[in-house]
Amino acid sequence: MVIAADQPKTPPKSEATEAGNYFVSNYPPFSFWKPDQVPAVETVLQRPAPADVPLGVYFHIPFCRKRCHFCYYKVYTDKNAAEVRGYIHAGMKEMAELAAKPYLAGRKAHFVYFGGGTPSYLSTPQLEELAGRMKELVPWDEAEEVAFEAEPGTLNERKLECIRGIGVTRLSLGVEHFDDHILESNGRAHRSGEVDRAFRFARTLGFEHINIDLIAGMMNDTDEKWKAAVAKAVELGPDALTIYQMEVPYNTGIYQQMKAKGKVTAPVADWPTKRRWVNHAFNEFEKAGYTVTSAYTVVKDPKRIRFVYRDSLWDGADLLSCGVASFGHFGGVHYQNQADVGPYMQAIDAGKSVIFRAYQTSAEERFVREFILKLKLGVSRPGYYKQKFGEDVLARFAPQLSRMQEEGFLKLGDDEIRLTREGLLQVDRLCHEFFLPEHRQYARYT
Ligand code: SF4
Repeated sequence: MVIAADQPKTPPKSEATEAGNYFVSNYPPFSFWKPDQVPAVETVLQRPAPADVPLGVYFHIPFCRKRCHFCYYKVYTDKNAAEVRGYIHAGMKEMAELAAKPYLAGRKAHFVYFGGGTPSYLSTPQLEELAGRMKELVPWDEAEEVAFEAEPGTLNERKLECIRGIGVTRLSLGVEHFDDHILESNGRAHRSGEVDRAFRFARTLGFEHINIDLIAGMMNDTDEKWKAAVAKAVELGPDALTIYQMEVPYNTGIYQQMKAKGKVTAPVADWPTKRRWVNHAFNEFEKAGYTVTSAYTVVKDPKRIRFVYRDSLWDGADLLSCGVASFGHFGGVHYQNQADVGPYMQAIDAGKSVIFRAYQTSAEERFVREFILKLKLGVSRPGYYKQKFGEDVLARFAPQLSRMQEEGFLKLGDDEIRLTREGLLQVDRLCHEFFLPEHRQYARYT
C-alpha cells in the first residue's frame, strides 16, 4: 500500500517520560463515561440473564501498607481492622443487591479477580469471610480462574495457605523490581528477600499459575540493575511474567514532586530505554524457553497458562465488579463506582447505588474496543472481526495499517496483522490511531 503524501505519519514518539496516562486499559476512554449514563446500567440489569455471555466477579480492596510513589490508585494506608471489616461488609451488601438483579440472578462465575490496592493486605479471617460470602452470592465452582494480586511483604505461610485454600488458581506477585534501593526509593513496602520467601513457599502449594509483575523504568534504575532483576526473575521461574513500562499519571507522588520543582520530565527512564529494557527481558525469557504472548507478558507454557480475566474482558464478558472505584461491565454498558471510601460506604448504608459514571457503548465502539485491546496480543486476524462484527479491518484501517507497516511496526499478511517487536513494545501509543474520530481529541499522542 502507498502512503499519500499529505497523510500525517504515526505521531512522533515523545522520548522523555512526561506526566500523563499512556496505557490503554479500556475503550472508549474513561473521560467519556458520565454520571448521566448511570441509568443505562439499571436498564441492562432488568433484562433476563443472557445464555451465552461469561460472567466475571471482581472485588476491589483499596488498602495498602504504604503508598508507592508511582501509584495512581486511590489507596488507604491508615485503616484499622474494624474499618476493613466494615468495608468488606459494605462491598458484600453491594454485591448481594447486584447479584439478585434479573440479568445476574442464577449465573455462576466464569472467572474471579481480587484486585487492589492490595488484596493480600487482608487478614486470613477477613479473606475467608470475604471469599465465603462471594461464593454464596455468585458460585465459583465452575470458575476457570480465580486470580489474586499480592504484595510479597504481606505474605507468610499461613496467609498463602489461606489464599490457596479459598480457591485461588492464579497468584500475581507485585514484585516490580529485585533491587532493595530501587524498591525503597520508589516507596514500595516490600524488599527482595520477602519475594524469594513468598515465591518459594507459594510454589509448594500447587497454584496453577504464579505470575511475577515487574516495572521497567522505576526511579534510580540502571541497565545493570535491570539486567540483574531480569536474571533473578528468570532464576525464580514463574509461570508467567508481566512487565509494565513506568508511566507517571498526574495523581502520583512522583508528579507532585515534579510539580513542586517545576519539572516537565519525570525522573524515570525515557521511553526508548524502557522499551529496550522490556525487550531485554523478553529476549532473556525467550532464551529460557518462554514465549512472548502480548506486549506485557511472557509465558512458560502457553498451552497451559492462560489469562482468563484479561481475555474474557477483551472478548466482552460481563463483569460484576464491586468495591470502591471498581470498574464493571454489563451487556455493553461500562460503569465505575464512587472513588472515595467514605461516600461509597455512606451510599451503601443508605441503600443507594454506588455507581458514579457509566457508558453505553455502540456496536461500532465495541468492535473498535476489541480490535484495540487485542492488538496488544501482537497478532490480529481480520477474519475474526469479519465474522464477529461484520467489519473488514484491512479496509477500514487501511491508512493506519499501511503507515505502521511502512514504519516497521507491523506486517500485513493474508489473514493476519502481526506486530513487529518494535510495534509490540509501543502498542499503547499505536492503539490511539484506531480510536474513532470523536475520541481522538483525548488521545495522548494526537
Ligand atoms: S501496592 Fe499497588 S495499589 Fe498499593 S500503593 Fe503500591 S502501586 Fe498503589
